[in-house]
Amino acid sequence: MKKLIFVSVILMLFSSCKDTSKQKVKNSSDIKTVEKQEEKPKKITEKEKVFRTFENLADTTFVRLADFSDGFAFDMRYATKNNFLKEKVYDCAECYTRVKTVKALLAANEEFKKSGVKIKFYDCYRPNSVQYKMWAIIPNPQYVANPKKGSIHNKGGAVDITLVSLDGEELDMGTDFDYFGKRAYLDNFDLPKEILANRKLLKETMEKHGFWSTRTEWWHYNLQGSHKDKIANFKWNCN
Ligand SMILES: [Zn+2]
Repeated sequence: MKKLIFVSVILMLFSSCKDTSKQKVKNSSDIKTVEKQEEKPKKITEKEKVFRTFENLADTTFVRLADFSDGFAFDMRYATKNNFLKEKVYDCAECYTRVKTVKALLAANEEFKKSGVKIKFYDCYRPNSVQYKMWAIIPNPQYVANPKKGSIHNKGGAVDITLVSLDGEELDMGTDFDYFGKRAYLDNFDLPKEILANRKLLKETMEKHGFWSTRTEWWHYNLQGSHKDKIANFKWNCN
């Protein structure tokens, strides 16, 4: 009998302890829910997104492309080790270029969208100091422009691009970015029809919007007249 009473008392104590802890958990989760509701930020709809305008901006001013549109894709290879240098030469991945280059890119991208594709960037403006970094790794003008002379990337007029579907899937251009060889040449027509058609779409649309191509790199486009701009060493903020 004594034993039975003892067991009952223990059970009662145990169950009351359990109840208290349950109550505590319930209370704390209630508080959390209230806090979450208070912190919840307002959702911004597509229409409410505000992009920069070109008002009061000179054509040669350096700007961040993504501040003007969210219609582009990016894979800034020199901010990673996934490039022909096998070194990361940018502190962070950003696509900056001059206002006039941005204007032409926006117009070209609008046209690409009609074909269900958009521009994806591998490289944009490249500060001259980064050109020196690249030259130190591979001091060969066949692959890297001499930083003393500078590249049109250093002038804010060149972009390295490809085309992706609106869902981000890359179109087949025959080689990866920065493949140095005949397969990357624009005058190499000994390639499957699909690759030639993709390159043609890229080249014809870019040319229509003021860019010219280079024979040996299907991804590289220069804005007309940008070779006259000064070599720049403007550096974007990574914070
Ligand atoms: Zn290039």
